[in-house]
Amino acid sequence: MTEPTSSSFHPFPRLPLEIRQQIWELSIAPREVVIVSNDKFVRHGRQASPPPPLLVASGESRSYCQRFYTKTYHLDDSGNPREPVKYTWINFAFDEVYMLDLDFVNFSAIALVRWLTLVSPDGDYFFYHVQSLLRDAKALEALTIIDAEGGPDISWYIGWSDFMEMRYLRCNPVPYYTKIVYGDVVLTPENMVQFERAWYKTQWEPELEEEYGSHLAMSDDDADPRDSRRRRWQHSKECTCPQKSRPRNM
Ligand SMILES: [Zn+2]
Repeated sequence: MTEPTSSSFHPFPRLPLEIRQQIWELSIAPREVVIVSNDKFVRHGRQASPPPPLLVASGESRSYCQRFYTKTYHLDDSGNPREPVKYTWINFAFDEVYMLDLDFVNFSAIALVRWLTLVSPDGDYFFYHVQSLLRDAKALEALTIIDAEGGPDISWYIGWSDFMEMRYLRCNPVPYYTKIVYGDVVLTPENMVQFERAWYKTQWEPELEEEYGSHLAMSDDDADPRDSRRRRWQHSKECTCPQKSRPRNM
């Protein structure tokens, strides 16, 4: 037994139940919840988050506060919690979820997550198995993808700038914000066009110029219609953009 410290609030148990419950409720704090279902994450220096403090503080706080948390699981191929059953409590109103992209594929609460960081150790795996699942993440507000695979070489630019342009180079962009992070390089909806242009200018233009002359050079002006980014702006059925019906390279 340890002596109660001076920071203990001795009268707490004597407060009326409703007041105790209000205090529990006000103590719910946002967390970064790291979910680890296999050893691969250990190599990325992350450990699974402990349970929310209110769910371990006392039997009373636990039984009251469980209603604010969702038990999440890793599912097996038939959609049942994988054996041995392990779960993670998440408050989707506050918590940010951090996991390997291969754990997201089996995550039981894809539709509920609002703030998500996915660590991607293998770009091909992400593009084949993970990106289509983001359609089911109906509550998503912010997505960060940490590319843990390799350097930002040509394929890095092509893969991620395609991913970004498909989602944001359009009149009906996806409703969540995306950041792609590789070390100091951060690709966002705001810089993706400049990013693409820089890639084009360094990787393609020198070859094109040698072959066809300099008239194919890309302009630095965002409004220049010759701007030859690989992907065109996508208009939606509903949009009323004046340039919608106009041919692009005029
Ligand atoms: Zn439009």
